[in-house]
Formats: sequence, structure tokens, C-alpha cells
Amino acid sequence: MSSIAENLERVRKRIAHAAAKAGRTIDEIELVAITKTHPAEKVREAIEAGQTLFGESRVQEARAKIPELPSNARWHFVGHLQKNKIRHALPLFELFHSIDSLALAQEMNRIAADEGMHPRVLLEVNVAGEGSKFGFSPDKLRKQMEELLALQRLSILGLMTIPPLADEAEASRKYFVQLRELRERLQTEFHVDLPQLSMGMTQDFPIAVEEGATLVRVGTAIFGERTRPKRE
Ligand SMILES: *Cc1c(COP(=O)(O)O)cnc(C)c1O
Repeated sequence: MSSIAENLERVRKRIAHAAAKAGRTIDEIELVAITKTHPAEKVREAIEAGQTLFGESRVQEARAKIPELPSNARWHFVGHLQKNKIRHALPLFELFHSIDSLALAQEMNRIAADEGMHPRVLLEVNVAGEGSKFGFSPDKLRKQMEELLALQRLSILGLMTIPPLADEAEASRKYFVQLRELRERLQTEFHVDLPQLSMGMTQDFPIAVEEGATLVRVGTAIFGERTRPKRE
């Protein structure tokens, strides 16, 4: 079995390779190491190997884990955020990847005002239109964009997507392209800057990098298999 340090090295090399292939520089891409279900010791190993940016998908788990770890670790939230967890989540995370409805954005805006905070967020898009999945459909997002942009407390920095599960990494490419094109369209239509594209997981992150990802969310390739189901 290879160590976390070796895994990280391998993932970073694959990011660099994909970036070079697409004529991008690696400074444009940040690796978010997804630590859900893994204990603090494993995260500490990753920190020792030079990784500083991590992601969690459950507020409860993050509230237990984050205080055990050095304060130079930075945390992103990548899961479905329940409204009743917003207040606890706000101080823990520097970016929320997964604002998946107008109602959630409005509630976060209200609580952030209450707490005197200005959270940085991405909007999660269900590009494939899967019924079982959280996120804005591209159409709904265009319809609700004005209302989202009017939320004074939220800094909307970009888009995030989770493509449908597939056997082949290549199957994700078209969804990554769609997310990038949607970003371009929103930028033009609403005169906003949406620099961040969060896309790519263990299965398909090199493809995401080729298609313009600025944040890749990789868990299994770094920390090994989880015992809980992959996508929750
Ligand atoms: C768990 C998770 C990941 C990481 O998945 P891997 O396949 O283990 O790399 C990425 N993004 C989200 C939203 C997740 O919940």
C-alpha cells in the first residue's frame, strides 16, 4: 500500500500533466483533498506531505475533526448543506462549493448578516439534469441568477458540478465542458466574474483539469477507499 505522501505526489503529477496537455499552468489549479470519513491522523499525514487545503462534506464530522488539526489547514465545504447547519458551518470553511438552491443561498445570506460574515460560495449545477441530485439546473440558474447576485453577503466566485457516475472518466468530459460554457454565458449575461470551476474527483480529475477546472476535489486517490458510500 502506498503512503499518503506518495499518493499526493502522484495526484499532483497527474494534475501537472493534464494542465500541460491543455496549455495551462498549475498555479491556476488547486487540489482540495477530501477527508470525509477519514480520521484526523490521516489528514495530519497529508499536512506533513505539504497539503494545506482540505474538503469535508458533513458539518458534524468537520466540527469534530477540524479543531484537532493545525490551524494552517484550510477547509472547503463540498457536501449538501442543511439550513440548520449553516450557523455552525460558517466559521469553519473558507469556501462553500455546494450552494444548491436559491432558498439555501437566501438562508445563508440571512445568517451571515446576523453573524457579520461574508461567505465565499460556488453554485452547484446539476448539468446532466439527474433527478436524484442536488443543484441548479442550468435553466433555473439563469432564471435565478439576478436574485442570487442580489444577496449582499455572499461572494459568488464560480460554479461546481458532480457529473453522473460512469465507468469511464471520458464520460465526464461533456459535463465539464457544459459547466465551463455555462460559466462563460453567465459572465456575459450578468456582467459578473466567475473565476472558479470546481470539477473533477478521483475518477476524472485529469479530464476536469483539461477542461478548465480551478479546484479539483480528490479523496480516494489520496486517502484510499472509504467505508461509507462514495457520494452522499
Ligand atoms: C467525496 C467527494 C469527493 C471526492 O470523491 P473521490 O471519488 O473519493 O475523489 C469530491 N466531491 C464531493 C462533493 C464529494 O462528496
